[in-house]
Amino acid sequence: MKERNTRHVVVIGGGIVGVAVCRALLADGHRVTLVEPEAPGGAQAASFGNAAFLSPASIVPMSMPGLWRQVPGYLADRRGALTVRWRHLPRLLPWLAKFLAAGRSRAKVERTAAALAGLLRGAPDRHAAIAAGIGAPEFIRRTGLLYLYADREAHGRDGLGWELRRMNGVEMEELGRAEIEARVPGLAPRYGFGVLLPGGGHCTDPGGYVAAIAAWCGNRGMARAATRATGFRREGGRIAAVETAEGEIACDAAVLAAGIRSARLAAACGDRVPLEAERGYHVELSGPVPELPVPVMPQDLKAGITRTASGLRIAGQVEFATADAAPDWDRAEILREALVSCFAGLETAAVTETRWQGNRPSTPDGLPVIGPASGCAGVFYAFGHGHIGLCSAPATAALVADLIAGREPEIAAAPFSARRFA
Ligand SMILES: Cc1cc2nc3c(=O)[nH]c(=O)nc-3n(C[C@H](O)[C@H](O)[C@H](O)COP(=O)(O)OP(=O)(O)OC[C@H]3O[C@@H](n4cnc5c(N)ncnc54)[C@H](O)[C@@H]3O)c2cc1C
Repeated sequence: MKERNTRHVVVIGGGIVGVAVCRALLADGHRVTLVEPEAPGGAQAASFGNAAFLSPASIVPMSMPGLWRQVPGYLADRRGALTVRWRHLPRLLPWLAKFLAAGRSRAKVERTAAALAGLLRGAPDRHAAIAAGIGAPEFIRRTGLLYLYADREAHGRDGLGWELRRMNGVEMEELGRAEIEARVPGLAPRYGFGVLLPGGGHCTDPGGYVAAIAAWCGNRGMARAATRATGFRREGGRIAAVETAEGEIACDAAVLAAGIRSARLAAACGDRVPLEAERGYHVELSGPVPELPVPVMPQDLKAGITRTASGLRIAGQVEFATADAAPDWDRAEILREALVSCFAGLETAAVTETRWQGNRPSTPDGLPVIGPASGCAGVFYAFGHGHIGLCSAPATAALVADLIAGREPEIAAAPFSARRFA
């Protein structure tokens, strides 16, 4: 801890981004209050149920050149990895149009990938340092990550994505079937070609990790307000307090890290951010399941499979609907069948099963929103991390802490500004 800073910072939201920010602010000597109505790391948060990948390769945006040509196929395939609930389509159209436009040209996705690379570079090391610092190194493992294809030709169809990764210095190693089998014994034979990311890592229990960081911060003086933030009170254009369902909390600065619920609060600070839920699901099987020494991402399934502390988890699916729509458990069933298809004998093993649905907080351009609010000095944003929030949380926290301290940020902040949507 540095010398005690006199500023009081309120952090709104106790997902992985919020608690990483709390930790970084405490390290700078600030007084910190976390406003979070639920248990940090609980099932309400995307941070609970994700695929647990810490992948330096997640710099390729979802919207890529030519995606629009595939959209009709995606929409027609009810068992595919991407689906839209038709009833919600009219409301989603403006966001979807921006989403397709964001991947319109190679130049655009090159810029996006370069910005994301700045956030994701060294992410597993940053997480390992956090986990070690809170006395729980077991949460982070650095055994690499393996992306799987049927063959080299299928890999070639993702050519631009892998080129973007190469351009941004992501370390990778191509594997044939025998090498895949050696690393992941028992994996379905349909995967004959793989790309190993030796620099990748994973978290063994994403929800538990968030809870552990929050508990560690609590032991170091962080205050906790178990309530919902509702707005901000300004004095002379500057934040004076965060308003909550149970009264206001006076502060010198605030960080908005409320995941999918952030847009309304950002609007109160002068920024209209297009934020939609890319809803995802997970299925976790516990019992006599394969150990899976390295997490895998079979590209035909567009889902991550990870051995967590409690079982074998498959997480994925992109379902467009509002954040509050009821889960469609058929999407989870698709994932369960996919998982079983990857490992012989899994179907019949005596396993227990849990299912989860959560909301990726997604911007159309695939970049998070990090930086100062336009209309309220002292409010800083840290939301909109879409598919990469677990991985990029430590770098986001470092950037926010630099901005609050008035230090020259080690990561370029400009690409993440909320003003890009103005
Ligand atoms: C299926 C799936 C798989 C994924 N896989 C990966 C992966 O492998 N790797 C990766 O890096 N990312 C992955 N992600 C994305 C990642 O999970 C998210 O980007 C990340 O968890 C977002 O974290 P967050 O802290 O911003 O939001 P959340 O984790 O959603 O936390 C937001 C918190 O804010 C609280 N909150 C809401 N409103 C208020 C309010 N008004 N006041 C106070 N608090 C409030 C909520 O209760 C919640 O606890 C995946 C996501 C999904 C759904």
